[in-house]
Amino acid sequence: MENILMCNFCGRKKNEIIFFVSGINNSHICNFCIDKTYSIIHSNNNKKKEEIDPIQIKKPKEMKCFLDEYVIGQDEAKKIISVAVYNHYKRILFYSSSKKNEKEVEIEKSNVLLIGNTGTGKTLLAKSISKLLNVPFSIADATTLTEAGYVGEDVESILTRLLQSVNYDIRSAEKGIIFIDEIDKISKKSNNPSITRDVSGEGVQQALLKILEGSIINVPPQGGRKHPEQKMIQINTENILFIAGGSFDGIDQIILNRTNQNSIGYISNKNKTKKNNNIIAEDLIKFGLIPELIGRFPIITHLNPLDKNALKKILIKPKNALIKQYQKLFNMDNISVNITDEALDIIVEETLKLGLGARGLRTFCEKIFLEYIFNIENTKPILTIDKETVVKKLLHY
Ligand code: ADP
Repeated sequence: MENILMCNFCGRKKNEIIFFVSGINNSHICNFCIDKTYSIIHSNNNKKKEEIDPIQIKKPKEMKCFLDEYVIGQDEAKKIISVAVYNHYKRILFYSSSKKNEKEVEIEKSNVLLIGNTGTGKTLLAKSISKLLNVPFSIADATTLTEAGYVGEDVESILTRLLQSVNYDIRSAEKGIIFIDEIDKISKKSNNPSITRDVSGEGVQQALLKILEGSIINVPPQGGRKHPEQKMIQINTENILFIAGGSFDGIDQIILNRTNQNSIGYISNKNKTKKNNNIIAEDLIKFGLIPELIGRFPIITHLNPLDKNALKKILIKPKNALIKQYQKLFNMDNISVNITDEALDIIVEETLKLGLGARGLRTFCEKIFLEYIFNIENTKPILTIDKETVVKKLLHY
């Protein structure tokens, strides 16, 4: 019988292929199967590379240097978060590389709690670290979360947002970072104006525990409220890093009471910074967080209120500083923007009065640049923003 030459993998005959590679015992593989095998091997290699590679995990000092490019000041917080993230990703490596019986030392999760006034860079810190690591990142607003039975979103919806940010790629989401903003607003005694939430706030805190500690969670694919017939997506939160932020207004008084220092209603910024650095779990419990929730955030750090100097730097120094952004926008219309030092000083002074941290800077910049952008065709090629311009735009608005 004639021995017909064919690929031993796909069965293609000689006239259907370009070439064969022959092996022992008269076996052959065609060019198509070689191509296919090559791409399988290649994609597996890529998958492996996607896993966190020990060489790719930056050392804490490198992380801090990276953060310095985006976040002004807040050195202590940057240091603490760099170490926490470093440990977090080493923990993931440890669990993915070691055999089960080698796991006698359990490395706990290093979720971080950032305490600091609004506009001091809490979200920016979390966002910047995710940029550095190139991992999925999402922001959840704790004020929208409610206990089952009330109007609002189930706590699991904080995972939905992360999933959506990676187009429902579960594997990728499972090593991401979630920033939970306004965590202080779910405290038991919170003055949150929402009457639709559970009265005590404790229900939401309880519901968050399971997600934070690391377990398999059923997530509603579209967020919001879960309902019985809905198909759920299962996510393992064990390797998700949670960073929570809150201003914890009023905690200074709790700390002062604890440390037995008398306050006469006014605490200077300097004092505030000093005291806030001493926050202990007991203060947070008094504030209205349940001890179990505090336990899920083993790392607590504080962001300082931003002074004049810091605000001025924020305007011009970071990689995507506000003034740099406006300069770029105008540049696209062939206009170069110069802003004088005195002009910057006034913007900063006015921002300080607002008490919204660096958040206020944008509001003022918008006011200054609005008309120039609106009348872009009549704006001169060199636009100089000096003290007089700022005074006119901001103070006599
Ligand atoms: P919050 O502490 O309320 O989370 P954000 O991080 O959202 O504040 O900051 C609000 C705005 O102010 C952002 O545009 C951010 O870029 C800027 N900002 C706040 N703090 C800093 C900082 N320390 N360094 C640089 N920019 C900052």
